[in-house]
Amino acid sequence: MNGTCLIIGASHAAAQMGPSLRQSGWEGKILIIGDEPHIPYHRPPLSKDFLAGKKQMADIRIRPEDLYQKAGIEFLLGRRVEAIHPDRKRVRLDDGEELPYDNLALTVGSRVRRVDLPGVDLAGVHYLRTAEDVEAIRKHVAPGANAVIVGGGYIGLETAAVLRSAGMNVTVVEMMERIMQRVTAPEVSAFYTRVHREEGVDIRCNLGVGAFEGQGRVEAVRCSDGTRLPADLVIIGVGIVPNVELARDAGLKAENGIVVDQHSRTSDPAIVAAGDCTWHHNPIYDRWLRLESVQNATDQARVAADTLCGKLTPYNALPWFWSDQYDLKLQIAGLSQGYDEVVTRGERDQGRSFAAFYLKQGRVIAVDAVNRPPEFMTGKKLITEARPVDKTRLADAAVPMRELLSAG
Ligand SMILES: Cc1cc2nc3c(=O)[nH]c(=O)nc-3n(C[C@H](O)[C@H](O)[C@H](O)COP(=O)(O)OP(=O)(O)OC[C@H]3O[C@@H](n4cnc5c(N)ncnc54)[C@H](O)[C@@H]3O)c2cc1C
Repeated sequence: MNGTCLIIGASHAAAQMGPSLRQSGWEGKILIIGDEPHIPYHRPPLSKDFLAGKKQMADIRIRPEDLYQKAGIEFLLGRRVEAIHPDRKRVRLDDGEELPYDNLALTVGSRVRRVDLPGVDLAGVHYLRTAEDVEAIRKHVAPGANAVIVGGGYIGLETAAVLRSAGMNVTVVEMMERIMQRVTAPEVSAFYTRVHREEGVDIRCNLGVGAFEGQGRVEAVRCSDGTRLPADLVIIGVGIVPNVELARDAGLKAENGIVVDQHSRTSDPAIVAAGDCTWHHNPIYDRWLRLESVQNATDQARVAADTLCGKLTPYNALPWFWSDQYDLKLQIAGLSQGYDEVVTRGERDQGRSFAAFYLKQGRVIAVDAVNRPPEFMTGKKLITEARPVDKTRLADAAVPMRELLSAG
């Protein structure tokens, strides 16, 4: 008989961890403590259908409430864990109450990176991480009104697509040379820049933001080159930072995330961690990293649950991710960092469907596939096969993808 497992954080990783613990045989108490007021909900729709008003809170729950009830998984919501005392195996909540544990799972995720600029506290200036953030943003969505998005990453661009489709005038301000620079090749950035411009979004790169101006509520964004962009709504999407403080203050090892081994164990044997908050080694790419994806949160939580139940399975999943903008379904497999060549397939200068394969020493290490599921699916296999690929055939859209596999 196991004892009490407390899971801190109630989002994607927790929603997997609880049920997986039961499936792996955990018989003791399972309590998920989360500082948001909701049972776990899907975060990706926040910048997509939830922002567009096509989905409501009830539509985006990861699992129905009664599933947790049937599995005997309890929640303590709207409550924050302020400290962990590993020596006494207790956590302290925001009101001072202490709860004992036998095992602890940290699924505390990440939070938005905040900017320190004049006017950032004006009404109408928003970040986007939670359902409450989006409910507040939705109040400002109005055809003909001006929206400025700070940051041309996935979330900024998804938001731009939704607001533009809602009839707003949208400007994206990106400090780097091109949008999505941190995560994609120039070819992919160029494709997305073209599509957004075709849709009527004003994309401005190499441009910083100096201040938000207005009397009580935002009226304009002052850029580093002096440009003043009128704004009724500003959304800042400049990345996230992992929530490591709780773990670090408890003496757990933390880098750019809570350090975990291949079985999701932290430096304290009674504590596991999973999801956006972890710093872990990826055996496919042989490097330490932190991932910001639903796939990672879910797969790592399964491994962590197994570990707590005494089954040591290694975490060795291939990272994958997606992004929806307009009718473009981008599916990403693998990690492109370190590539030395890009091979594209399909029409990248026109139309709405193409793929970019990232190669290192002739082998595919990642793929970005836009409206091309076969390229994504086969791309995953090419990555794990890790053998040299025929580049000419890879670039030829007339060659079926399966023929590029060794068995093809
Ligand atoms: C707008 C948006 C769009 C996204 N789109 C995609 C996408 O298309 N595809 C994709 O793969 N990923 C996407 N992501 C990323 C994905 O949502 C995250 O990778 C995922 O949510 C990580 O889950 P998690 O459980 O690790 O952490 P989180 O979702 O960050 O959840 C952690 C939870 O723990 C809570 N918490 C933290 N500290 C404490 C504490 N001390 N006490 C109590 N509670 C605490 C937090 O408030 C939060 O509720 C998107 C994210 C956002 C914000």
